[in-house]
Amino acid sequence: MASLELDTPVQYVKGVGPRRAEQLATSGVRTVEDLLLYFPRRFNLRRQVQPIKTLRGDEPAATVAGVVGETNYHAFGRRPYFECGLDDGSGWVVLKWFHGRYLQGQIRTGMHLGVSGKVTVFRETLQFVNPRWEVIWDPAGTNLQVDELLPVYPACGPLPSGLIANLIKRVLPEARRLLARWFDDEHLRRRDLPDRPAAVVAMHRPEDSAAWTRARRRLAYNEFVLMQLGIALQRMRAVSRPAHSLTVSEKIDRRIRARFPFDLTAAQDSVIGEISADLARPRPMNRLLQGDVGSGKTVVALYAALVAVAHRRQAAIMAPTEILARQHFAKVEQYLSGSRVRSALLVGAQRPGQRADILERLAGGEIDIVVGTHALLSEKVRFRSLAVTVVDEQHKFGVRQRSGFRAKGFAPHCLVMTATPIPRTLALTVFGDLDVSVIDEMPPGRGRTATRCVDKSQMPEVIEFVRERLAAGQQAYFVYPLVVDAGNTQLKAAQTAFEEFTSRDFTDYTIGLIHGQMPTAEQQSVMRRFAAGEIRVLVASTVVEVGLDVPNANVMVVTNAERFGLAQLHQLRGRIGRGADNAACILVAGSKNPIAAERLRVLTETSDGFKIAEADLRLRGPGEFFGTRQHGLPELKIADLIDDYKLLQMARRDAFAIINADPDLSAPQHQILRAEMLKAYGGRVGLIAEG
Ligand code: ADP
Ligand code: MG
Repeated sequence: MASLELDTPVQYVKGVGPRRAEQLATSGVRTVEDLLLYFPRRFNLRRQVQPIKTLRGDEPAATVAGVVGETNYHAFGRRPYFECGLDDGSGWVVLKWFHGRYLQGQIRTGMHLGVSGKVTVFRETLQFVNPRWEVIWDPAGTNLQVDELLPVYPACGPLPSGLIANLIKRVLPEARRLLARWFDDEHLRRRDLPDRPAAVVAMHRPEDSAAWTRARRRLAYNEFVLMQLGIALQRMRAVSRPAHSLTVSEKIDRRIRARFPFDLTAAQDSVIGEISADLARPRPMNRLLQGDVGSGKTVVALYAALVAVAHRRQAAIMAPTEILARQHFAKVEQYLSGSRVRSALLVGAQRPGQRADILERLAGGEIDIVVGTHALLSEKVRFRSLAVTVVDEQHKFGVRQRSGFRAKGFAPHCLVMTATPIPRTLALTVFGDLDVSVIDEMPPGRGRTATRCVDKSQMPEVIEFVRERLAAGQQAYFVYPLVVDAGNTQLKAAQTAFEEFTSRDFTDYTIGLIHGQMPTAEQQSVMRRFAAGEIRVLVASTVVEVGLDVPNANVMVVTNAERFGLAQLHQLRGRIGRGADNAACILVAGSKNPIAAERLRVLTETSDGFKIAEADLRLRGPGEFFGTRQHGLPELKIADLIDDYKLLQMARRDAFAIINADPDLSAPQHQILRAEMLKAYGGRVGLIAEG
C-alpha cells in the first residue's frame, strides 16, 4: 500500500471505495486520522457467541455475551435466587442463579458478561438457569486476556462493526508512525499518562480493561487540555487589555456602605473584598458572582458601580429582561435617593426623544449609572468613561453572553451575576475564563421554606392549604412550566386555572395572570398589582417573571413540576421565603413516572443550591444541561465532565501554565498543540495560522 498519512482520505485505505467512503463520512470518518480515532463502543468475547435474538428457548447449550442490566437478589420464597438481565443489542435474556446470594457483589450492572448453559422459557421469557459465567469486560477493571476482546464499533450508516474493525486493523499498525505526541515523556511521566500513539492503539486493542482505562484517560486529558487552552487564551485576551485602576479607599468604602439601610452580610463583605482587589488593578476584572436568589447580589453590584462613580467614571448594569431592568433600576434609585449620583434606565420600549436624551447624557458623562436591557449593547450607546459593567443573568443559566459593551481605549471591569448555582465542572468550563465569587449566606431575618411533593390527585388539598394561607393575609404563586408546544397547552392550562380560581376556588380574592406572550406593559401592571398586595394569587405561565420580589408572597405551587430542571425549580422557589414568615413550596407532579418523582425529591431534601445543581447535571447530563458547542468550546467525545473532574482540574492547570509561559503558542515544543488548537477553534481564540 502506498504510504498512508493522517490526512489521506479513507478512500485510499484498502477495502474502501467511493461508496464506503461516503458511508464512513456520515459518521465523520473522512481521513486515516479519523479512522484511527474512531473508537470501539465496547468489547465482546472472541468466541462462539450467538446473538440473543437467535435463542429459541430450547437450546441445551448456548453461549451469549452482553451487558448486565438491573440485578436483584430475591431473598424470600422457597428457593431464593439471584437474577439479572443481559442485553447484547439484539435482544434480552434473563439470567437466574438459585441460592446465588454470593453473586451479589460479583455480577454488577454495566459489566459485560459471557454466559453459557441451557436455555429455557419461563413465563414467556427466555432464561438461563444457573449458567456458567465469565466477566468479559468490567469498566471497574478486571484483567482479561487480549484475544478475548473483540472490539465493537458504532456502525457507520449501513457499515457494520465488523467491517469497520477490519479497516481499522489495516491502519492501526501505522498509528505509532503517524500520530503526533502532544507532550514529552517527562510531562506524561509526572501525570502517569501513556503516550498518545500507545493510547490510541490501546483504545482499539487493549491488553486488558485496565490498559483501556489508562488509554481513555490519556485521550480525555487531551480533550480537556485543548478545551482549557482555548479558555486560557480567551481569558488572557480579556484581561490583558488596560483598565482603569479603581482603588477603594476607606473613605469611599464608608460612603458607599452608608447608602444601604442594613449591614452587609459576612458573605457580601468577603465578595466585595475580592471585587475591590480586582478593581484596584490596571487590568479588567473578569469575575462571576454566584448567589441564590435573594442572597443580596444586587447590593454587591451596586457597590462595584459606585466605586466607578467615586472615581468619576461610569457604570452599566444590564438585566436579561425589561421587567428585571426596571426592578433593578427601582432598587438603585431607592438606595441612591438623596445622593448626587445620576442614574438612568435604558430599555427598548422608550420614547425616541427620551432615549436620545439618555444617549446624549451617557456620551457626555452626565449619567453615572445606567441600568438597562440588551439595548445597552446597541451601536448607538456611547459612554464617556465606562469603567464597570455588571451583567445580571439571573435564571438565563448557561446562555452566556459575552458582554460586548462598547468602551473606547480602556476595558471596563466586568462582573457577571448569576442566581443559578453553577456545578463545579461548569465553573471550570463554560465559565472557565472567569474568577468566581460566591455569596453563600442569606441576609438575616428570612423565614424557612418547606418543600413538599404531591401528586396531582391531591390538588384539592393543595387548594385548601392555599386558602388558609390567603386567609392569614399571605399571597401565592401558581406556576406553570413553559413548554413550547404547538397547541400552547400550558398557556391554556394557566388560563383555565385562572378562570377556575376566579370563579370557584378563591372567589374572595383577586387573581392575576401573567405570561410571556402578554405585552410588557400589561405584565408590568399585573406585577405592580401583585407587589402592592392587590392581586393575591398570581398564575404565571412562564418563568420570565422569576425576577419578582414580593416578600409577602410565601406560597408557591408548581404544576407539572417534573418538566422543570432542578436548578430551575430551585430558583423559582427562591421567589418565596423572602420575608420573615415561613414559606411553603408545593411541587405537583403531573406524571406517575417514578424517576421524575425521585428527581423532585432532591428539592425536598436540600436547599443547598450547589448540591441541587450537581444532581441536576448528573441526572440530565452535560449535553442537555448546556451545549459546549453553543459556548464555542470543542466537543468532548471521550472525556466526561462529571466523572473525569480530577483530570479536568489537572488539564486546566497545565493549559493555563502553558499559555502563561507561551501566550501565542510559538515555542517549538508547542507547535503540535498550536496546530490542534487551530483545528479545533479556527480563528476564534486569536491564534493566527501560519503561511
Ligand atoms: P439577589 O440580587 O441576590 O436576588 P437582592 O440584592 O435583590 O438579592 O437582595 C434581596 C433582598 O435582600 C433585597 O430586598 C435587599 O434589600 C435585601 N438585602 C440585601 N442585602 C442585605 C443585607 N445585608 N441585610 C439585609 N437585607 C439585605
Ligand atoms: Mg436580584
